[in-house]
Amino acid sequence: MTARPAMRSPAIESLGRGDLDALSEERIRYTVRYAEEHSKFYRHWFASHGVAAREIRTHEDLLELPIISGQTIRAHQPPASPDFGFLSAPLDDIFTIHETSGTTGVPKAFFLTWDDWSRYAEKYARIFAGQDLGHGDRLVICTSYGMSVGGNTMTVAAHRLRMTIIPAGKCTFPLRVITSYRPTAIVGSVFKLLRLADRLEGEGIDPREAGLRRLIVGGESFAEEARTYLAARYDCPVYNTYGSTEGTMCGECVARDGLHVPEDLVHLDLYDPSLHAFVPDGREGRIVLSHLLPVGERSGMVLLNYDSEDTTTVVSRETCACGRTHLRIRPPGREADGVAIGEARIDRLEIERGVFSPENMVELNGEYEAFLYAEGDRGAVLRIGLECRSPSCDREGIAERIGRTLLAGNRPLAVAHAGGEFRVIFSFVPPGSLELHAIKGRPKRLVDRR
Ligand SMILES: [Zn+2]
Repeated sequence: MTARPAMRSPAIESLGRGDLDALSEERIRYTVRYAEEHSKFYRHWFASHGVAAREIRTHEDLLELPIISGQTIRAHQPPASPDFGFLSAPLDDIFTIHETSGTTGVPKAFFLTWDDWSRYAEKYARIFAGQDLGHGDRLVICTSYGMSVGGNTMTVAAHRLRMTIIPAGKCTFPLRVITSYRPTAIVGSVFKLLRLADRLEGEGIDPREAGLRRLIVGGESFAEEARTYLAARYDCPVYNTYGSTEGTMCGECVARDGLHVPEDLVHLDLYDPSLHAFVPDGREGRIVLSHLLPVGERSGMVLLNYDSEDTTTVVSRETCACGRTHLRIRPPGREADGVAIGEARIDRLEIERGVFSPENMVELNGEYEAFLYAEGDRGAVLRIGLECRSPSCDREGIAERIGRTLLAGNRPLAVAHAGGEFRVIFSFVPPGSLELHAIKGRPKRLVDRR
């Protein structure tokens, strides 16, 4: 196999902290001015908030700029507005138009120039190279090629690394894709890759013998226990990525000690819950991102101080074992993934952690869904549905372990449980029987039905 460079762009990826910060600030200045000159939205936004674009010079100055959200984008596009306020290049210069579904209502429109494509592809190329993928690898992409950006820009990234792409677009591809083309890696979500492993085994193919060297997962957050289980099923490393149409593309390298943020192309701030101040490194905060355009480059849709609604923590700004200097963050989570019960909160991943305990996974297939119902005046009951491989599975043992994991790591919830204000019940069904299978797209696994 050909020797591979450890980094896609070593001069940038291993730039010293001082130079990296200076480069980032030069690009903040250029991008803010570019936004003011080219987008109707930012021109009015800056003027109405009394912000002079040329006064935004450093990362701290971004605190002066108001934060925007998906709602802001929707409010400045049809049908709420006659035109696309965020469009920041002439429509004739746009290469592709995308939409993100989001969770509610009208999809957000995204406009990409070829410069945007180049930057998105560069970000994915760095992630793949960091995961030791390159020339000689054959990569199945299960990510959708539809109106979202991921699959398409990953494909351009693969060209830069001289990799072979198998653009399946979903994880339900025929198994001959594995047996005939012998891919060395797959990009997909944890649950899709688990279902694929079941399908392979159903056809008498051991996933560990399928020739796969890497799995690259993303699309939604997952419990580390789920990753560990997936890695064992395929007997290969599983790397996490965090990508979005909005242009964050962060990925773990082989060191698996946080996801590298491409700091020369995306500026990421972590805010406190009120969205008024930055949180210090090591504390969890809300990801607010700004695009960084290299001086002279163009963009079809610039985002500045965009609230991703995801949360994370900075792992380190020191040089990683892989040699990259770009900062590392913990796998981002979604604030909307949790539900509150009085003083307590439950996050979906707390349930997932218990489901994927090794003892449980002898009998479960990993699929789960949880619904929270009201009980009495202020009580709540959580019903967790699980798929068992056999009707004779040890229901009591599984329920006991999941309940214990849930309460052991969550003191306020344990208090509510002890006080009779919260209880958990379980239902066990055969594979493929949970409600979530009837839903198109990414299912919500923890649903508040109170
Ligand atoms: Zn690294």
